[in-house]
Amino acid sequence: MDLVLPGDPGWEQARVGRVFNARRPGRQPAAVLRAKTERDLIAGVRLAKSRGWRIAIRSGGHSWAAWSVRDDALLIDLGDFREMSYDPESTIVSVTPPVKGGAELRPYLALHGRFFGGGHCPTVGVGGFLLQGGQGYNARGWGWAAESIVAIDVVTAAGDLVRASATENSDLFWAARGSGPGFFGLVTRFHLQTRPLPKVIAETVHVYPFELFDQVMTWLHTIHATISPDVEIVAVSADGVLAVTGLALVDSQQEAVAALAPLETCPVIDHTLHRQTAVPSSFESHAARQMAANPEGFRYIVDNAWLSGPPAELTKALHPLFTGLPTVRSFVIWFSMAPLRELPDMAFSLQSEIYSATYLVYDDPADDIRLRAWLTDRMTELQPFTAGQYLGDSDFTARQVRFMGESQYQRLESIRARRDPDGVFAGYLTAGGTEPANVNPWES
Ligand SMILES: Cc1cc2nc3c(=O)[nH]c(=O)nc-3n(C[C@H](O)[C@H](O)[C@H](O)COP(=O)(O)OP(=O)(O)OC[C@H]3O[C@@H](n4cnc5c(N)ncnc54)[C@H](O)[C@@H]3O)c2cc1C
Repeated sequence: MDLVLPGDPGWEQARVGRVFNARRPGRQPAAVLRAKTERDLIAGVRLAKSRGWRIAIRSGGHSWAAWSVRDDALLIDLGDFREMSYDPESTIVSVTPPVKGGAELRPYLALHGRFFGGGHCPTVGVGGFLLQGGQGYNARGWGWAAESIVAIDVVTAAGDLVRASATENSDLFWAARGSGPGFFGLVTRFHLQTRPLPKVIAETVHVYPFELFDQVMTWLHTIHATISPDVEIVAVSADGVLAVTGLALVDSQQEAVAALAPLETCPVIDHTLHRQTAVPSSFESHAARQMAANPEGFRYIVDNAWLSGPPAELTKALHPLFTGLPTVRSFVIWFSMAPLRELPDMAFSLQSEIYSATYLVYDDPADDIRLRAWLTDRMTELQPFTAGQYLGDSDFTARQVRFMGESQYQRLESIRARRDPDGVFAGYLTAGGTEPANVNPWES
């Protein structure tokens, strides 16, 4: 293991070099520990306790708000601890947290004819992704990635390495599936249930001019719940147009054509600027497009909302956001989760039929304040339809609304009080270091 202190050569690289968002925070950790083995992780937790440091953790480095960079904490960076092993008998894969869900885990499992729905962008680490819920491929039909966690290995605030599952340390297991950056333990390994690799991926893409936004989105809100659960449905506004896409993850082209057919019923389909129907695709081409849409080296401001409401009214509220993006690389997605699946008992507990996330992409720091203000205004317009937000695209230092069911939040805090009474783990990052409020401020 390798401990880097402020002022050491390579300090800046150790502090923020693996943070995806080029809008890096000024926060200064007490030290950075680069761990290579499970033993290093246990030693790191014990070292922090002996020095009176809090602990922050980095796995893939993709949290938009750079949650891993916390003032005066020991930053434990797992970047060099990368292991995967698959057991064909149980079909369970065990992975360490910095493993990239798309770029590393997916091709590894494909060799065995298996699949696990990591983040859409292939470089996202499974660590932060799984802890916050994990909206992977076809979360709409297949569920949240955290639902496929069978067990975790975790170093507790007491400094012990334990296994947590439905039958052992079940309080930690419950909390790890949804508490995200508020988790009070260091996960060293996830044991994940895989599924068969879909044999066919096919994609329908209909591109519309913004003038048809109201008609298209009102129609989409009306029909999305009726579409096959094998289809991921996303509407994206980017490059000055609206694209409605359906990605069928099935076993034959015939199934794909049938599953995607309802997308042909849009009343203004004859006015598409581009139209492709059930065209065979691949995870590789999808991943390449995700990388192009989320380029490294740019600044990102991201926000999101769980939405619900009558189709025409919700469409009207979304109009300024979707048609007025302030920079050329920015994009906003509308992601169907309908019909809503019932969630298992876990900390992740807030969702609605529609997820919308906005990614403002730019390169000039002088635009930070103006762009954040623009996005806050748009999110404010959506408040009457907002149930809450998803941790994965949130930044509590900029805007904080409800992120968990109320009883689940209370349960999480009571487990935290028992498991980490001294606050060894840094917990949620908020403005001014206050406790997060799990409320929608406009409702109180
Ligand atoms: C380009 C891009 C695309 C994305 N696409 C998706 C997507 O499709 N679906 C989706 O759901 N999200 C997506 N996200 C959001 C992403 O999943 C979250 O930001 C997630 O937290 C990233 O995980 P990480 O390990 O890479 O990040 P990190 O910044 O390394 O970790 C985030 C935080 O998670 C906690 N954490 C991480 N590892 C551990 C551990 N081992 N033990 C305890 N706590 C830990 C820590 O609090 C840490 O600070 C995307 C993000 C980016 C940048």
